[in-house]
Amino acid sequence: MITSGEIRRLFSKYDKSRLTISTICSHSALQIFHGAKWLKFKTLGVTTPDRRFVYEAFPLAKPDIFIEVREFKDILSKDVQERLVEENCVIIPHGSFVEYIGAANILNRLFVPMFGNRMVLLWESDRSKQREWFREAGLKTPREFKNPSEVDCKVFVKYPGAKGGTGYFIADSAEELEEKIKRAMEKRLIKSVEEASIQEFVPGVRYYFHFFYSLMLDVGFRVTKGRLELLGMDKRIEPIDEAYRGLPNVPEEFFDYTVTGNQPLILRESFLKDCLDMGARVVLASQRLFPPGIVGPFCLETIYHPSRGFTVFEVSARIVAGTNLYPQGSPYTAYLFNEPMSTGKRIALELKKALESNRLEEILY
Ligand code: ATP
Repeated sequence: MITSGEIRRLFSKYDKSRLTISTICSHSALQIFHGAKWLKFKTLGVTTPDRRFVYEAFPLAKPDIFIEVREFKDILSKDVQERLVEENCVIIPHGSFVEYIGAANILNRLFVPMFGNRMVLLWESDRSKQREWFREAGLKTPREFKNPSEVDCKVFVKYPGAKGGTGYFIADSAEELEEKIKRAMEKRLIKSVEEASIQEFVPGVRYYFHFFYSLMLDVGFRVTKGRLELLGMDKRIEPIDEAYRGLPNVPEEFFDYTVTGNQPLILRESFLKDCLDMGARVVLASQRLFPPGIVGPFCLETIYHPSRGFTVFEVSARIVAGTNLYPQGSPYTAYLFNEPMSTGKRIALELKKALESNRLEEILY
């Protein structure tokens, strides 16, 4: 594993006055570049040739420099990494970054400094570790079943990694579950039953809360040494949301949980205490489990049920695509900042504040 000591040593040679914000051209890269450019950072996008025109199509979010690679994984090659170091790059991880490159590769092979605590990737990319984190935080989570024969309620089945919901399914009984798992194995979505994550199906309304844990700003909701900010929220749109339209004959392909877009949301104000409390618990637990804990953006994916309250089913410990809704800020950032503030810009602001106070080492790993 590449240690934080190694990254610090390399970072100490950086020309800090020319710090460059960099990521791969996918997911929330437009927002990240847009925010960075707003705060006058240099920007660098690692792209595949077929995507470059997308990032040229939005001049205010276009990276100043492109590095073209055949596939995103090539960012791990010595040549590309050395070029990134030469350009004084700090990498901003996002959902596609973690999915394409892989948490283990990031931990073991990526020597370019990255924004946020790398250890978080170990905890968020493994569902059983996520559960341990939620347990430590004292959050309500869906029941889990190790073996299909133990199932005694409607269940929801997922696969390893962040698959954006593709191929996930529900089953009403142990028999139906076994049948569907068999089909998933035939389609090579999973290799064995053990790979399937079998959860109790939680009915209710979904809320995806976008948080930012800042070590650089302090007035507001203090959680240990930092401030916890609620930057926004969204709801994912999935084909299943439209299934009701086809009743009583819903086409099979509409029983699909693949994310296809995001809708803006605000929360009934009296629920904000639950929302902020969940965010704070996740931060505190992360500090106990993998010090210094979470740094920067993260998202809690929740389901609200009228009598059960909020159940958390997933944490994403980096910028999520739902934040793309708010390049000029959300209704909540209006109460935190006197200027438009996207999550992408918020990351750049944290880097700027750290740079000004000579504290970059606290937020780069
Ligand atoms: P991503 O990493 O892109 O967020 P993922 O592959 O990790 O996606 P989840 O976010 O955990 O998958 O789940 C995808 C969708 O499945 C959710 O948006 C929600 O609609 C549904 N879902 C997940 N878990 C449950 C559950 N326990 N009960 C009911 N629905 C669920």
